[in-house]
Amino acid sequence: MVPGDRVSGRKVVVVGAGVAGLSAASVLAKDGADVTVLERRPYVGGRAYSYAHPALEEVVDSQHVLLGCCTNLLAFCEDAGLAGKVRWYDRQTFLEPGGRASTIALSGLPAPLHYAGSFLKASMLSVADKLAIARGLMEFTHGYPQVDDESVLQWYRRTRQTDGAIRHFWEPIVLATLNDCAANCSMKYAGKVFYELFLKTSVGGKLGIPTVPLSEFYGAGTRLVEANGGKVELRSSVESMTQQADGRWLLTSGETSFVADDVILALPFEQTQRLVGGMALQGADDDERADLLGKIERFVHSPFISILLWYDREITDLDHAWLLDTTIQWFFHKSRIRGYAKDRGSYVELVIAGSKTELPMTRAEILEPALAELVRFFPEAGRAKLVKSGILKEARATFSVTTGLDQYRPSQRTGIPGLFLAGDWTATDWPSTMEGAARSGRLAAGEVAGDRTKYLVPELRAEGLMRLF
Ligand SMILES: Cc1cc2nc3c(=O)[nH]c(=O)nc-3n(C[C@H](O)[C@H](O)[C@H](O)COP(=O)(O)OP(=O)(O)OC[C@H]3O[C@@H](n4cnc5c(N)ncnc54)[C@H](O)[C@@H]3O)c2cc1C
Repeated sequence: MVPGDRVSGRKVVVVGAGVAGLSAASVLAKDGADVTVLERRPYVGGRAYSYAHPALEEVVDSQHVLLGCCTNLLAFCEDAGLAGKVRWYDRQTFLEPGGRASTIALSGLPAPLHYAGSFLKASMLSVADKLAIARGLMEFTHGYPQVDDESVLQWYRRTRQTDGAIRHFWEPIVLATLNDCAANCSMKYAGKVFYELFLKTSVGGKLGIPTVPLSEFYGAGTRLVEANGGKVELRSSVESMTQQADGRWLLTSGETSFVADDVILALPFEQTQRLVGGMALQGADDDERADLLGKIERFVHSPFISILLWYDREITDLDHAWLLDTTIQWFFHKSRIRGYAKDRGSYVELVIAGSKTELPMTRAEILEPALAELVRFFPEAGRAKLVKSGILKEARATFSVTTGLDQYRPSQRTGIPGLFLAGDWTATDWPSTMEGAARSGRLAAGEVAGDRTKYLVPELRAEGLMRLF
């Protein structure tokens, strides 16, 4: 990249070292800006984090997956030297209770027919279910809806989706990618997922899983920023921000203060609300602040629960699977994904996405039914000894892409000079994901540089027969 005239030497403070903050900081530092990232925790990665669990004596994290269509996230991984730390899968196993398996696997056929062969063979779906799914997917051959006024539930009804198609196909995909139920998600984002994963290209739906704990994974982002001359300050919680008379910003973290020409707040919406609400501004910008705070009021969280299990022996030779007709929707065999020796047994994660019902439950109320459900898919889990277990509850895992939310997702450029926003919740056209965060960071960096899309990596281009649509 040729050093950017607009950013070269400019003092930029990025608040938050999640995927959004690291993405923004890395491209700006590479372009010659004087970048400092301030992160309140002792590790980077934001919500994509791992930590040493004192009681379990393990470094734990909640499963995060990447997809082949995540172009900005993959560019970040490439720049940070992380390409070798992602294991890619081009086949997905759907298990019914009792263990009957259907596999959706990539074939050599051109898009959008790349999954057609295995889809036709999938025993989890009846002929009527398959016809309903094919009819539904036809709606997205030209792309996904540009307006977000229809919910996924309304779309199921309008396109007469069958019970089997919903339970065994649409609902698992919607929950896994949007982390909320059909009634709470807009069809624009579900349609985008269906389009990118199943139709547009043959690589968009490939599943990538980090092979190391997440903060170790994103630690490479710190090294990337530092290699380009930037700084990442951990344990630096920004408590206040003041817009000075000369237009520059003064940020405080404990006893330390930082001055910046530009600030990128790469925070979740509730943290942005807190900092922006308390910011000392030059008078004229108060209306802009009120407008932004009004938009943030519209966002709601959706929780995510991970159940971590350690068995004394390997309970299956699958690396991951969708578990149908259950509360635990997804199974990740972390010991296999990470390449642990077989004699260490199975380290497993079960996922309950969009888990509003389970969030207030006790550990036993979550664990006991999950263990019973698991045995229905993997009988060996009933014979193996459960060595230890843990439950991670993330009450603020994601924001829900509710209908009508688009008009409230703010641009990365605010109306307040020198103040920029990043974070998965800002206007990216993506749901609450690491790709959304990476895009938001690159868009915010582009705004600092005076060219919004300067650092943005384009989405994948349609392939095969999809080029005709
Ligand atoms: C359990 C779980 C599972 C998920 N699974 C997936 C998945 O499979 N695939 C996927 O793509 N996405 C997944 N997501 C969503 C994904 O993690 C987020 O969309 C993404 O990480 C958001 O990144 P961000 O940089 O926008 O925000 P964050 O990751 O929230 O980063 C914000 C950072 O700001 C810091 N911060 C906050 N306040 C301050 C302050 N005052 N001063 C300094 N620093 C501050 C925080 O500590 C944090 O590090 C999952 C999320 C969760 C929680």
